[in-house]
Amino acid sequence: MTAAGPGRDPRYDLLFEPLRIGPVTARNRFYQAPHCNGMGRNYPTPMAVMRGVKAEGGWSVVCTEQCDIHYSTDNPRNVRLWDEGDIPALARMADAVHEHDSLAGILLAHNGYITPNSISREIPLSPSGGTAFGMYPVHTRAMDKSDIAAFRRWHRNAALNARKAGFDLVIVYAGHDLALPMHFISRRHNSRTDEYGGPLENRARLLRELIEDTKEAVGDTCAVGVRLSVDELLGDQGITCEGEGREVVEMLAELPDLWDVNISRWQNDSATSRFQAEGYQERYVSFVKQVTTKPVVGVGRFTSPDTMASQIRRGILDMIGAARPSIADPFLPRKIEEGRTDDIRECIGCNICVSGNYMMAPIRCTQNPTMGEEWRRGWHPERIPPKDTDDRVLIVGAGPAGLEAACALGQRGYEVVLAEAGRELGGRVARESRLPGLAAWARVRDHRLHRLQGMPNVEVYLESELGAGDVREAECSLVAIATGARWRRDGIGRHLREPVPGSESARVLTPDDIMDGVAAEGPVVIYDDDHYYMSGVLAEKLRAEGHAVTIVTPAASVADFTQYTLELNHIRRRLFEIGVEIVPFHALASVGEGTVDLASIFTGAVKTVECRSTVMVSAPLPSTALHDALAADAAALERAGIRRVVAIGDCRGPGTIAAAVFSGHAFARELNVGLQDEAPFLRENVELHPTLHGPE
Ligand code: ADP
Ligand code: SF4
Repeated sequence: MTAAGPGRDPRYDLLFEPLRIGPVTARNRFYQAPHCNGMGRNYPTPMAVMRGVKAEGGWSVVCTEQCDIHYSTDNPRNVRLWDEGDIPALARMADAVHEHDSLAGILLAHNGYITPNSISREIPLSPSGGTAFGMYPVHTRAMDKSDIAAFRRWHRNAALNARKAGFDLVIVYAGHDLALPMHFISRRHNSRTDEYGGPLENRARLLRELIEDTKEAVGDTCAVGVRLSVDELLGDQGITCEGEGREVVEMLAELPDLWDVNISRWQNDSATSRFQAEGYQERYVSFVKQVTTKPVVGVGRFTSPDTMASQIRRGILDMIGAARPSIADPFLPRKIEEGRTDDIRECIGCNICVSGNYMMAPIRCTQNPTMGEEWRRGWHPERIPPKDTDDRVLIVGAGPAGLEAACALGQRGYEVVLAEAGRELGGRVARESRLPGLAAWARVRDHRLHRLQGMPNVEVYLESELGAGDVREAECSLVAIATGARWRRDGIGRHLREPVPGSESARVLTPDDIMDGVAAEGPVVIYDDDHYYMSGVLAEKLRAEGHAVTIVTPAASVADFTQYTLELNHIRRRLFEIGVEIVPFHALASVGEGTVDLASIFTGAVKTVECRSTVMVSAPLPSTALHDALAADAAALERAGIRRVVAIGDCRGPGTIAAAVFSGHAFARELNVGLQDEAPFLRENVELHPTLHGPE
């Protein structure tokens, strides 16, 4: 339940001053910046309800993700406003936002060369032709004058339809190298010789025209914003905040009602905590307020109210933009307003939220298990139904799953006993947060420990490794086994299905051994069949300890999954910078004395590499022994008065920290986790066309 707190700290008063944006007024300085969510056009009602929860949580402006304005920009992850037919879906979101007196913003987008238009099959548009983005065998078509005129018309119509849908703020998108107006501005993409090419004034012409068109169409009642990337971090090859980024803002300074400024590409704008600290965009965007009198909003993974207030006090920003911090805690503004800043569920900067977008799945968040589940499961980030059974619940294991289950059950009013074998709480997040670059991940533990402090109904025991007998004697009627997983030592994973000969040797270490403080001897070979962050962070740690490190992987390169968390290029660059050798397309064939044999996954050809320690990052193995022992003796459970034993988190199925938190939360809500005959969530059925016949 959202408890009213002690009242707002006066240092944060300026975050709650209203702000005039053209013809509309935002009631405070919290701006939910446009963010993808994997729902978009495919799940309009869940998306609308999720945005409504943000407004309820105090974000005075709540924006859509990118909104495609025409079928020539057909990105299935975006929302869509091609014509009036798309109004009802978006109106639902605007209504949900208005219910809480916030302003609804819409980001009108044309992705140009970025989208291959796989669905509409239209040739992508660009200023000067050339390849489309990515690996698709698709090339773009250079826009002629009639295309430009048509594009302006589509944009204008979309603005008019956005107003009909109820939006208060219409944003012209020129950000992230994702939008046509930015492609026109960019020398890399624009080699035109007409009035839309050449000098910057010409290259910025299209953006100017779009702002003017939009103001003329809807500017009397809607605010018109611009989302612009002012630096691409490409030096001379791109737009910079000292050069053309600044000049564009100077040129158009007073034209829009709001400047929403950031850096490009998305992997830089939404950098993870492993690579950038809170507020990292300040040095790029701080010039903007010096060259315009219009309100300026920017982002920077802001979670600290002190940092936010400082941004405004020092004249860097007028509004605090946030995507991820608003995902991790939709109620962040309300908590500041009510003087409950310690209750903020701080984003850890892991970008699991972004992965949903790439997987075309509804958004998920490591810190906020209710994200994306607001409508389909009816989960609210702050409210949870009070207990409806008399169970006393034992939770074994205090990793992310056990901690989340304890918090949510405690909030429901259940009597809970949380037993942890180790000397610290947090399980894998406590351990992994001590690895290079992952310190912010400890917030998953810290937020929950803070909550548990205020719950006298939750008893927590450390150094309490429970066996089946202990569980049966605990006088609890419901038991969650959250004993997690440990990395396997034998090399079995996605590629290898048999143990690696020699893997029982003392020279073979697991990530758990290294996190436990076991020292490796160099040279070290890390065998990576996990393809996420672990091999890279261990390589950084071992290089910092002075060892030569080689990563061997059956994949084409390391960290493939991190393309979904926008970290891939950052990780690979860092590994090259610190001198980690990478051997792709190879599996571990055997571990010997001072060497390992590697086999090509294609030809089987073997090569021998010098190596004194081998680190197996192949796969985690769930720690199910306790669960299985309990489940094996149903009669003993019954005698002990235990009606159900449920494995949750990594013990149920190893995965992301987000998945473990989700599992713990689901258990607390439903007192069960597992397969049922009926899906435990609503789905939005598409409306069937009335006939089987298409156009004549
Ligand atoms: P998850 O990600 O599912 O939360 P973790 O691996 O992070 O799992 O955490 C599991 C926790 O369970 C660890 O802190 C571990 O020490 C603890 N644990 C494992 N077995 C037992 C046991 N038998 N009794 C109590 N705690 C246990
Ligand atoms: Fe932050 Fe990670 Fe949640 Fe995204 S998934 S909002 S980065 S905690």
